[in-house]
Amino acid sequence: MSAAGEPIIGVLALQGDFAEHAHSLARAGAQPCEVRTAAQLAAVDGLIIPGGESTTIARLLLQYDLREPIIAAADNGLPIWGTCAGAILLAAEIEWLDRPALSLIPITIERNAYGRQIDSFEAELEPGALGGAPVHAVFIRAPRIREVRDGVSVLLQLDDEPVAVEYRRLMASTFHPELTDDLRLHRRFVERCRQARPRDHAGN
Ligand code: GLN
Repeated sequence: MSAAGEPIIGVLALQGDFAEHAHSLARAGAQPCEVRTAAQLAAVDGLIIPGGESTTIARLLLQYDLREPIIAAADNGLPIWGTCAGAILLAAEIEWLDRPALSLIPITIERNAYGRQIDSFEAELEPGALGGAPVHAVFIRAPRIREVRDGVSVLLQLDDEPVAVEYRRLMASTFHPELTDDLRLHRRFVERCRQARPRDHAGN
């Protein structure tokens, strides 16, 4: 927790749009920091794995010796949120990824599953538990969540398919909230990180 009582939330900064997430986190009441080492990971109250290219990030996770520490941190209750490529890396089953990822959320995800013609698109999602206006969602070469298993709850859907899910302290979304002004998912994640550290929050 920062001196100002804000959760310190790391953004995995190996590749992808980590700067946009850091900007959204600062606006949503957290203190963002870039994570490239296990020591930096050990100092955060939560972690975002951004969009980018999942094959590249998976390779860099191994190269930077971060794969095992992230899995261990999640096992110890660290909140982690993956967006797009980040969601791919969190999934237990991944269609079309040729290297080990993190395998933390019991979902099946298919990479680049909307087809080349509709590579990128935007959609309005029913807000569900987020409340308020529809969520304007930006999808960029997005994956599709093909199956969710026990313990996973669906937060947002597009045409009856999950596009944001929660599992224990983990979240995955196949679109990019960091590319819009809508801070609802960032605020939800910041709140999770605050609750995951009740002792620090109480100043102990
Ligand atoms: N298509 C990318 C992948 O498979 C994900 C795209 C994104 O993160 N915007 O990794």
